[in-house]
Amino acid sequence: MALFYYNYIMSAHFVLGRHKFTNGPIHIKSVNPENKHDFICLDCGKQLTCVLNVSADTKHFKHRTLTCNATSETLLHITVKEIIAQNSKIKLPDGLEFEYVEVLLEKKWDKYKPDITLKSNDKTLFVEVIVSNPISWDKELTFSKKMQDCLIIDLSYYLRDFDVEQLKLDVLEGKDLKRMIYGFKKGISHSKNANDKTDLLKLLGFGIGGYLLYKYFQPTPIRKRKYRRR
Ligand SMILES: [Zn+2]
Repeated sequence: MALFYYNYIMSAHFVLGRHKFTNGPIHIKSVNPENKHDFICLDCGKQLTCVLNVSADTKHFKHRTLTCNATSETLLHITVKEIIAQNSKIKLPDGLEFEYVEVLLEKKWDKYKPDITLKSNDKTLFVEVIVSNPISWDKELTFSKKMQDCLIIDLSYYLRDFDVEQLKLDVLEGKDLKRMIYGFKKGISHSKNANDKTDLLKLLGFGIGGYLLYKYFQPTPIRKRKYRRR
């Protein structure tokens, strides 16, 4: 796939648009005069004008009317949601993967709309993508109180001039930009089980080791003592 870049320039000008036919985000650099009518806004879906008749660095998309409020942050937010929606597993901060079979965007939950709701066969994981506004304390508290696990992906300080393939890796396979809000006294079932299994194996190992050590060392002094008594 070609490399796409976001540019942090004036909010009315974007370097990312959506191709009408492939439905994917595309960088203005990949647009040529023949297909310049094929792009719409990632946010509002309206037709975009491609401004190509300028130097390579300043090529951009722009709206034909001033009715769209999209910013570079909005487009980053949308792109991250699409990356997650188009895949089926995501790495959690503890390094384990959460596999999901259903993705719901902006689905209402309580009085909130988590950015993404991921469902595995037996577990729901919310995902919040932070680009400009931090997650509110009451929302965070509600996740905990209602025992809902939430993965926070914080892109507040993410370099805005980036490559979309790298963004995909960071979102799906990275750990650095992520943290978890665990539901009260309850972790993600996948990681929880895995940890439990590891703990159990360790415990079993120590148990067997301890028993062998006991068997090896313990009988000797008893025998010696018995011999001494004779
Ligand atoms: Zn728009």
